[in-house]
Amino acid sequence: MNKNVDFRVDTRAGSLGHKCVLPLAFFGGNPVVPKGSVTPWPAPKKKHLDALGTVVGSGKYHRVNHPVVSGVEQSLGKWTGNWTVRAVGSGTAAVHVALDYFKTRGSRVITGALNWPGAVGPISISGLQPEFVDVNLNLAGLDQHAAAGRLGNSEAAVLITHLFGNNILVPELRKAARSQGVAIIDDICQSIAASKNIADGEYLDSDALALSGNGAKHLGAGELGFVLSNDTDLIDHVDNVSLTSSSRNGARVFSPNSQGYNYRPNVFSAAVAASRIDGLDKQLDKRRTNAIVLWHLIGDLPGLLPLFNPYDRHQSLLNFPVRIDPEALGLPPGPQSRDFMVKLLHAEGVPVRVWLTKPVFEFLPEVRSKWNSADFPNTVKLLDTMFYVSEIAPPNNPDVMKLFADAFHKVWEALPFVAGRMSEVTAEA
Ligand SMILES: *Cc1c(COP(=O)(O)O)cnc(C)c1O
Repeated sequence: MNKNVDFRVDTRAGSLGHKCVLPLAFFGGNPVVPKGSVTPWPAPKKKHLDALGTVVGSGKYHRVNHPVVSGVEQSLGKWTGNWTVRAVGSGTAAVHVALDYFKTRGSRVITGALNWPGAVGPISISGLQPEFVDVNLNLAGLDQHAAAGRLGNSEAAVLITHLFGNNILVPELRKAARSQGVAIIDDICQSIAASKNIADGEYLDSDALALSGNGAKHLGAGELGFVLSNDTDLIDHVDNVSLTSSSRNGARVFSPNSQGYNYRPNVFSAAVAASRIDGLDKQLDKRRTNAIVLWHLIGDLPGLLPLFNPYDRHQSLLNFPVRIDPEALGLPPGPQSRDFMVKLLHAEGVPVRVWLTKPVFEFLPEVRSKWNSADFPNTVKLLDTMFYVSEIAPPNNPDVMKLFADAFHKVWEALPFVAGRMSEVTAEA
């Protein structure tokens, strides 16, 4: 950043009628990122069409024992190098199956207050009560000491949510859960590489991992989920929750014990997921490289903090999460400052998004009244200050990251001149 360049443009004669307005795209300037230069995920390819064609050619479009489904279960298991895999209808279904299996161990499930409502919903569906703990500010993962301190006789499970592609290792929490007989479930819907040996070369000490294959996630497959476990009874339990008949074995005998949720995997989605597994390591590698390039270019902007560890090459980087320190930017505290920055960046063509804006219990009518945001200061701080850059997956490459970085620099340089127009910017829909 060259601080000596006079980048101000006098637009007194312009429609804004404002002195010394910078040519930010929000105010009518040219966006840094040209339209069409970013490929949105799931980055369609011909091989996905071919995969769909295979299902059509098979003459059968459904069934849990379809060779396409068995095939993706096996190749995903092999890719992880550790787990037995069962395909189900969604990541949410995978969380539900795991919780349903462990629901007799207690009445409560510990999980982070910074969470995805769809991931926490299955706690209540399983007849259990969620017990929320705060998260840490660096990885947005559950605070392991706070969580371990809550473990007791009434806890059935701890649900460890890995957000944005971060790996939430929390070894002390896992140890504490083990010693107290509390089940460990990892929601790795956003962090597919957490199924690999990423904990100092070891696999996560977990009873069940829930993975999503939905269109926004790494397998970008439509609607799909997976249960990963080494507990064969839990793997069998998938069918108890999901299937009304013994179709897994090709028979048509109706089960006397089914809960009938019908969480069957979509065979077309399974085919797309299967077509991505060979390239998964490459995809992750490119996401990580893009993230490192982008962070290298914007990491020293004042008031900008990473919400992932830029030096950890094991993370899945589903997107590129950051937060701002409004004070360091000379902006007032509160979400309006974040919304302001996001709008300016968005106008420059950077695919930035605000995630949730409230702790997860605010989205769950049954439990909302029992919890108070003020008890979760880190969660609230993150929700007020964070946003993420999406589209860091291939085929977007370091050249695209460079465009994103240029836009960040442009907005940061303009900030002193436009900070006074914050309410004008955030008021615009
Ligand atoms: C996507 C997601 C889910 C749910 O997965 P679906 O396949 O959409 O049901 C659960 N937890 C987290 C953290 C997710 O990101």
